[in-house]
Amino acid sequence: MAIQRPKGTQDLLPGTIETWQYLEETMRNVCREYGYEEIRTPIFEATELFLRGVGQTTDIVKKEMYTFLDKGDRSMTLRPEMTASVCRAYVEDKLYGQPQPVKLYYIGPMFRYERPQSGRFRQFHQFGVEVLGGDQAVVDAEVISLVWNLYQRLGLTGLEVHVNSVGCPVCRTKHRALLQEFLSARRDDLCKDCLDRFERNPLRILDCKNPTCQAVTSGAPTTRDTLCEDCSTHFERVLALLEVAGVLFRVNPRLVRGLDYYTKTAFEVMVEEIGAQSSICGGGRYDGLVEEIGGPPTPGFGFAMGLERVLLALQVQHKLPEQKPGMFAMLVALGEKAQTQGFALLNDLRTQGLPVSMDLLGRSLKAQLKSADRQGARYALILGEEEMEKKVLLIKDLTLGEQIEVPLMNVVEELNKMYQRGVKV
Ligand code: ATP
Ligand code: MG
Repeated sequence: MAIQRPKGTQDLLPGTIETWQYLEETMRNVCREYGYEEIRTPIFEATELFLRGVGQTTDIVKKEMYTFLDKGDRSMTLRPEMTASVCRAYVEDKLYGQPQPVKLYYIGPMFRYERPQSGRFRQFHQFGVEVLGGDQAVVDAEVISLVWNLYQRLGLTGLEVHVNSVGCPVCRTKHRALLQEFLSARRDDLCKDCLDRFERNPLRILDCKNPTCQAVTSGAPTTRDTLCEDCSTHFERVLALLEVAGVLFRVNPRLVRGLDYYTKTAFEVMVEEIGAQSSICGGGRYDGLVEEIGGPPTPGFGFAMGLERVLLALQVQHKLPEQKPGMFAMLVALGEKAQTQGFALLNDLRTQGLPVSMDLLGRSLKAQLKSADRQGARYALILGEEEMEKKVLLIKDLTLGEQIEVPLMNVVEELNKMYQRGVKV
């Protein structure tokens, strides 16, 4: 039996890959405009990094990691996300010694052992940004506005941007006590997971998707109610700056991130039209994370965005651009002598940057012309016995059907001119 690709993975073939290239290029352009530089880290890391950097109590660490022993008996894990790796690099490569804050972005594959479904894969791709070494509210606002402006450039509509503040460990201790007090009377109505969370991490109960838990928590004290003065000022400043940047957002007090190193701002972007997996971007402030993985105390802010889900949204909303034009020209050479001459011509044209191609199967004139058409070539460059004798090339416009003869001597110059004209319009 033929071998199949692993469940939850995809082959991205020509015809589809163009939309990925378009999306990635737009992301890179926006990052350049905002002054973010790319970072690439290893696809696998010591498992310990994710235990500490993602958190032992998270679904990712508890259920979703691809962990294996290498031949030296070291526990390794395919990265399920990249924030931990970026923070490790910040410490290991001493990026804290550079002018702060350090503004980085990444695009790459991530791996999580999940149940595959629409918008959920085992190998998927994230675009993300991390700012390390900046604690001001303007950092939070800059990053969220980058996300917003990227979506505007892509033409996405129907976006829901939710913003909240989970405060610092001090405000959270206060909130935790209030929340436990509020929930204790109806503790028995909570789902099994939430019962578990009650002692360990009651904050997470607020974003449980179970309807009964949602009913129990309606009217519960929110993190915003207990923000200390510093966290409150920070949050108000973020909201004011988002207004200035024209970001349409909503404060959602149920949006939480459950781990201690997540602080202050949290945000998420949803597009309802793409179904149950509607979250296309999530992020926030993590002032405790770099220290957690052994670095100097360093504030951080970032997000991760799923490329598959953004592409799905673009597709559903018919916002993907028309396919790029195909080859500029196809050489149609007949006979070995013409093929040799044509091969040299293609070499000249390609060196000058023109996308030109030729028949590689020794087919007939008719078949070659048909294939040129199918490949979307604008011109066929015909070189038969007659042309060889007259030392000319027959340039046939495949869209208009017109053709001209050009002396072989001038042909590179002539085609170059035609190409430049075509590129301009
Ligand atoms: P979800 O609730 O959908 O599982 P998450 O909270 O696990 O999302 P994050 O870890 O915050 O997601 O990752 C950021 C983004 O990466 C998500 O908003 C989503 O767009 C994308 N993403 C996460 N897991 C997957 C996956 N298995 N397949 C495709 N995209 C994913
Ligand atoms: Mg998940």
